[in-house]
Amino acid sequence: MLKENYDEVEAKILEACKRSGRSRDEVTLIAVSKTKPLSDIEELISLTSCVNFGENKVQELTDKYEKVFKPVNWHMIGHLQTNKVKYIVDKACMIHSVDSLNLAKVIEKEAAKKNVICPVLIEVNVAEEESKFGIKTWEVLDLIHEIKDFSHIQVKGLMTIAPFVDNPEENRVHFRNLKNLSLDIKSKSIDNIDMNVLSMGMTNDYEVAIEEGATMVRVGTGIFGARNYNIS
Ligand SMILES: *Cc1c(COP(=O)(O)O)cnc(C)c1O
Repeated sequence: MLKENYDEVEAKILEACKRSGRSRDEVTLIAVSKTKPLSDIEELISLTSCVNFGENKVQELTDKYEKVFKPVNWHMIGHLQTNKVKYIVDKACMIHSVDSLNLAKVIEKEAAKKNVICPVLIEVNVAEEESKFGIKTWEVLDLIHEIKDFSHIQVKGLMTIAPFVDNPEENRVHFRNLKNLSLDIKSKSIDNIDMNVLSMGMTNDYEVAIEEGATMVRVGTGIFGARNYNIS
């Protein structure tokens, strides 16, 4: 079942790339395995070429990191509390959810202690939803200027969680706005700041996100099926 789901998502990614004149290798599929057992992850690793997994809780990421039978890339995609940074700074291949200077400072400090450079994305609340983490579009450039001299953090791009909508077309404008913001920042050629990664699109809207320039899509339900938060 997992393999069939994965293959179906792969096929849709390929189609979306074709429709928008992009090459398949411009887009990384992150399988969001939060709440799912290690056995599901290992099944996916065994049966497919999937090597990128996303988790939104520190404890769950580190547990799975330690136990999985084969090393894979772990993406931290959830809200990150400063007191937990130390547990993942050398385990996550990328932190997608940097949304404050304070968090960036703690990542810098903990990464320095472990002598690693931590790739990060700035989380932007492009749709300006009350309930969402992430900074506002107009705050991004200031934060980037404050982070650019941190030697143990490398800003790779932007991330957003689009609103939950019935029709994914409704999110096209938000994806386009995030892409435009990244182009705008890129055009300023700021030292130590890359804008090559755009992490946007989930099960409901990843095809639209790819059409609008996503380079990473985060798909959970579409691969692993619905989540049951009660048993995890
Ligand atoms: C859970 C989660 C996803 C995956 O959501 P699905 O709708 O199941 O694909 C993607 N991104 C983030 C940040 C998440 O927390």
